[in-house]
Amino acid sequence: MIDKKLVTLLHEFKQIGLTSMGGVTRCVYDDNWILAQKKYVKIANDYGLYCFCDKMGTIYAATSDHISHKSVILTGSHMDTVINGGWLDGIYGVLSSVLAVGQLLQKFGAPKIPLCAVSFSEEEGSRFDTTFTGSRYLTHQLSRGVFDLKDSIGIIFDEERQKRVTELSQVTPIRTPDFKIRSYIELHIEQGNLLEQSHTNIAVVTDIVGQKRLLITTNGISNHAGTTQMFGRADAMQRAVDLMTQIYSSLGMMKGVRFTIGKIIAFPNVANVIPEKVDITLDIRHIDQHVLDDAFEKVIKITDAVGATYRLTTNVEATPMDNQLQQQVINSIKQEKLVGERLFSGAGHDAQVIANSKIPSVMIFVPSKNGMSHVPQEDTAESDLLAGQHVLQRLLYDLAY
Ligand SMILES: [Zn+2]
Repeated sequence: MIDKKLVTLLHEFKQIGLTSMGGVTRCVYDDNWILAQKKYVKIANDYGLYCFCDKMGTIYAATSDHISHKSVILTGSHMDTVINGGWLDGIYGVLSSVLAVGQLLQKFGAPKIPLCAVSFSEEEGSRFDTTFTGSRYLTHQLSRGVFDLKDSIGIIFDEERQKRVTELSQVTPIRTPDFKIRSYIELHIEQGNLLEQSHTNIAVVTDIVGQKRLLITTNGISNHAGTTQMFGRADAMQRAVDLMTQIYSSLGMMKGVRFTIGKIIAFPNVANVIPEKVDITLDIRHIDQHVLDDAFEKVIKITDAVGATYRLTTNVEATPMDNQLQQQVINSIKQEKLVGERLFSGAGHDAQVIANSKIPSVMIFVPSKNGMSHVPQEDTAESDLLAGQHVLQRLLYDLAY
C-alpha cells in the first residue's frame, strides 16, 4: 500500500540543515526552517491537499477547503529540531502524516470526517527560551510574553515570526485555524530504548510524563582566588555543590523520578575569581503528578535551607492519552499484523499540550536505535519507519472514512 516515498523524503529533509557533525539544525524561523516548511507545502499541494499557514508559521494540510468551525482529525508533529539534533525527531511524524492523509485522499476520495495534517512551527525550544509555541498557539495556551523573547544574538521572536509568515504567504494563504479538533494523533520516534529492549517494533503511548524545570541560583561574594582565605568565604559555587549533592541524594531515592542538572553557569565565570552567583537548571519528570509534586517540594526545601532562590521555567502536568484512541491504535497495529506495546513517554510532545486542552489525543512510537535521540546518531530501522506510517494510515482510515 505504501511505497518508500517516506524514507526518500526523510533523507531529503535531512539535507535541510545538515551540520558538519552529521546532525540537523533547523531551529524555528531560521533559513533551513523556512525552506523545510515551503517544501512541506509543495508536498501537500501535490497530493491535492488544501494548505494554509497560521500566524505562528504552522502549516495545515487538509482534505477539504471548508474546515472552518468543522470538527477535524488532526495528525502531525513539529518541523523544528534541537541544535545538531537527529534526522527523525518531529519530521518523521510531520512527513508520515501528510503522506498518509494525501494518499488516503487520492485513493479513497474525501473522508466523512475531514483529515488535517499539521507541521507545527516549533516544539523544541532550541532557539528562544520557550517550548511548544506551535501547539500552544493552536490550543489558545500561548502567553503574550513569548512574542518579546530574544534568541542568543538578540533577535526578537515576534520580528522573526512576522518576517517568516510573510515569506510563507507567498506559497500558501494565511488563515486562523478556526476548526475544531476532534482528535489529535502524533507518530514519533520513541527517543528511548524500551522498545529495542523488548524487541518490539511499535507502541501506543499511555501517558506522557509531567515535567518541571527550575532555574536555581546560589549567591555569594566575589573576591580574589589567591588572597581570600578559605575560612569565611562566601562562595556561590560551594553552595551550589552542596545544593546539588542534596538534590542527588534526595531525589535519587524516589522511585521513577528522572532528574537532570544539565546546565551550570558561574558568574563571573573566571578561573581566579570566587563566584558571586551560580545558576543551575534542574529538570524533574515523573509519570505520576503527585510524585512529581513531592519531588518538587523536596527541592524547594533544600533550596530554602541553603539560602538559594528558584524560578519555575517549565511546568507541564503528567498527561494520560485518550483510552479509546489507544484501543483504536492497538486495533490498527493488530490489523497490520504487528505486535505492539503500551509505553509511557519520558519526553514532552505536542500531544501533551493538545491533550491538556481536553482534546482526545494519542501517540504512536517506533523504536530508536540504541535509544539515542537529540544527537546525530538518532536513527530508526527503515522497516520500523514504514510500519509506523502503515499503522497511522490505517488508523486514520478507520477513524475518518
Ligand atoms: Zn519531537
